[in-house]
Amino acid sequence: MRHETRASTRAAKPNLIGLSPGKLAALLAGMGEKPFRARQILRWVHRRGELDFAAMTDISVKFRQRLARETTLEPPPLRHRFNAGDGCVKWILKTASGSSVEMVYIPDGGRGTLCVSSQAGCTLDCSFCATGKQGFDSNLTAAEIIGQVWLARRELGGFENGGGPAVTNVVFMGMGEPLLNFDNVMDAVDLLLDDHAYGLSKRRVTISTAGVVPAIRRMAGRTDAALALSLHAPNDELRDELVPLNRKYPIKALLEAAREYLASLGERREPLIEYTLIRGVNDHRRHARELAVLLRDFPCKINLIPFNEFSASEYRRPSDSSLGNFRGILVDAGYTVMVRSTRGDDIAAACGQLTGAVRDQTRRRERLLARTVAAAPARGLIASAGDGSPSAAESFRAEERAP
Ligand code: SF4
Repeated sequence: MRHETRASTRAAKPNLIGLSPGKLAALLAGMGEKPFRARQILRWVHRRGELDFAAMTDISVKFRQRLARETTLEPPPLRHRFNAGDGCVKWILKTASGSSVEMVYIPDGGRGTLCVSSQAGCTLDCSFCATGKQGFDSNLTAAEIIGQVWLARRELGGFENGGGPAVTNVVFMGMGEPLLNFDNVMDAVDLLLDDHAYGLSKRRVTISTAGVVPAIRRMAGRTDAALALSLHAPNDELRDELVPLNRKYPIKALLEAAREYLASLGERREPLIEYTLIRGVNDHRRHARELAVLLRDFPCKINLIPFNEFSASEYRRPSDSSLGNFRGILVDAGYTVMVRSTRGDDIAAACGQLTGAVRDQTRRRERLLARTVAAAPARGLIASAGDGSPSAAESFRAEERAP
């Protein structure tokens, strides 16, 4: 299916959809309006889904006309929608910079989680992540971030009838490292938590980070959203390989910063530790035992994510028995452990599989393709894998050809 919304390429008028409540109030104050005007507009846009100033009938006609002249209300354009057999939905959006990014809706009983992207690509290049292989183009604007939530609500029918599948939780676990786009992500979080906008609970908005330590410290006093740490390894040696950012901010510094943030909240909150299990890499019993010791004094919940395979990676999913053993060791050590079920894999929407189409400014994809092709004769990667799935080189070429 193909969907288009109004293009966001026109003038540099302020785009009100991405303004945090504070910034919207400041803009309107500069136009001579009282603070309640900002609350009215927030409700029209984010609670009722209205983008046409003319329809905002509790605002004077004169001011509506001025808003239409001097400002704009534009979510990012939607390019495609994919519906998975298990109810998940993936959308591809176009960014102002010309890249495409993805967001995923995951229904689960009464809960509906939207996984949003914060960057077009990612600079961090974690070894198990499809987004990292795409290179990096740009930070998403606040309008492009909150616009994902707005679009998902519209697409799911939530604005029209107030019912339908709801977005009850938002997780910053899509493409990009949210804390490297700090200000825009925080503006979007402000809107998610504001009662006049999305009104979500602070426990239902989760910022997931690979470990940008100074930015975790900056979160204290700026937000009280939930925190998830993408750990993936129980020691620095292994984490240096899987999450290269660890070389700059090792595990000890990461856990200390998280502790400081949680202490700043003034109430008991447990962060989520995310651990992607990769066969033969970090899924051994000894890794589970090491993890149990590492987190002994760090109250948290642990989310185990069996690696979701993609063509450009040689990593493999763990066996069910190693997943069970790993989980069992942590449970016996007293941890609350969840195993993330694979959702949306028929539309490549599972965790770690999001790619979009990034206009890579880092040339990382080019270098990776060159390495892949050079290694192909030895690894048999140029030929198709035999199971009908394309080889890594073919996939990259297909992506290069894609519009
Ligand atoms: S796992 Fe997250 S931080 Fe790491 S490369 Fe992927 S998007 Fe970036």
